[in-house]
Amino acid sequence: MSSLYIHIPFCLSKCPYCSFVSYPGMSGLHRRYAAALLREAQGLQQNGGVAPLSTLFLGGGTPTILDGEVLADIVTGCTELFGLADGAEISIEANPKTIDLDKLSLLRRSGVNRLSIGVQSFNDRELQLLGRPHGAGDAVQGLRLAQAAGFTNISLDLMYGLPGQTPGSWRDSLEQAISLAPTHLSLYELTIEPGTPYFQQQTQGLLELPDEEALTEMDHLTATLCREAGLIQYEISNYARPGFECRHNINYWQNGPYLALGAGAVACMDGCRRRSTSDPLRYCELIESSQSAIVEEERLEPEASLRETVVMGLRMVDGVSREDLRKRYGWDVRDYYGKALTRLVDQGLLELTTGRLRLTARGRKFANQVMAELV
Ligand code: SF4
Repeated sequence: MSSLYIHIPFCLSKCPYCSFVSYPGMSGLHRRYAAALLREAQGLQQNGGVAPLSTLFLGGGTPTILDGEVLADIVTGCTELFGLADGAEISIEANPKTIDLDKLSLLRRSGVNRLSIGVQSFNDRELQLLGRPHGAGDAVQGLRLAQAAGFTNISLDLMYGLPGQTPGSWRDSLEQAISLAPTHLSLYELTIEPGTPYFQQQTQGLLELPDEEALTEMDHLTATLCREAGLIQYEISNYARPGFECRHNINYWQNGPYLALGAGAVACMDGCRRRSTSDPLRYCELIESSQSAIVEEERLEPEASLRETVVMGLRMVDGVSREDLRKRYGWDVRDYYGKALTRLVDQGLLELTTGRLRLTARGRKFANQVMAELV
């Protein structure tokens, strides 16, 4: 399995909660950046040869901020260079304000077969507070256009725990999302990241977020509505119709190897994690002058990698395979974690069978605490 992530670090505007590598403006750099991506891809292929891609994921930022032709060039350039495995999954993230039928049709023709639309909410007031550049109507329109362009695998991203959000408004958003019949939903709780305007507002007591009771009710609504709609939870925040789980992300949660291109992109290959410069202009300059854009390299020791694989794998509802871990690291989780694991099992937070280790339903509620003990 070979996975490639391509980072497009440009957005229409910067959302006040966002800590991703993403920059508003910079439209003058878009084409140059795309050319640098392809040049970096060629270097990758020359340096060791890459197996045909099983998954390719264009994420951001807002990849669809680029012109359709530019995006199609990136996709076809990479697929011609690396080749595609049978049934390869090619995903792109989209903002509803940056797609039209022509662009979506072009993407579809270039081989993109999975579209992930960043909706976040179907409530215009919540969208405004989130600083999103689109309204609820744009999201509905975006999904209709994607269907018209021939996309049959469409994911919607929504967020809960938003300022001013109530269980009732979360229910409305979720019901609206489900009524559009997506094959996949990513439902993330808002987290307040240091360095963001939301973080500042929260420190000043200016951000009114739903309390624990409201969040629990939202979780309950999520579980009920998704189950009733036939969207099966397969990861802490992800739900899909059977067969539509995101294979690219499953590889991350299995702590599998992945290649990456672009500014701020992180790759993990041969037990080494590498991050490229976050500055898109610097990235272009380095690649154009045949230099490496990597600014950070971390070699993962086997034990650290084992712990990471366990913690990431526990995000999946199926958890981790004990046999896979034994083969990969030579350790059984029960022996490795000893008493700490037994205690978490006794507390009803983890389930250990002969084949697998996974979080219980109760454990998923306290996932962060459980993972903090195992990392
Ligand atoms: S659209 Fe996404 S990546 Fe861009 S600023 Fe908003 S949250 Fe960040």
